[in-house]
Amino acid sequence: MDSEKINYKIVEKSWFARIARMVLKSRNVAMVLGKSIHLSGVDKQTFLNDKGWFEHELCHIRQFQEHGYFRFLWLYLKESYRVGYYNNKYEAEAREAGMKHKRFFSEQLEKETGNIKPTGLPLPADEKKV
Ligand SMILES: [Zn+2]
Repeated sequence: MDSEKINYKIVEKSWFARIARMVLKSRNVAMVLGKSIHLSGVDKQTFLNDKGWFEHELCHIRQFQEHGYFRFLWLYLKESYRVGYYNNKYEAEAREAGMKHKRFFSEQLEKETGNIKPTGLPLPADEKKV
């Protein structure tokens, strides 16, 4: 995927992400809604430096664009309900996108991208286990 072509916005200290984080009791959350990546518990620079995580969330933005805003939310919800959050095909696709940098970096990255977990909310929200 060519991340240069993707039109995205990053919202730091987002209330959406903060609520998700509180509900889930996670340390950090990156949640994608349309073209925005909502962050809580992680600052923009740390997030952007984490290529694997960044690419993962960009993939969710692409999914929103591909399917349309409400349609994608609906499809994501259905998929989560059907197969569970981790096996959700949209998460599988995003995980794969996050892994693409692997060949340019070391196994360090594999470790990093492997730590990105969907949160269990019926939304494309992910947390990173440190
Ligand atoms: Zn995800």
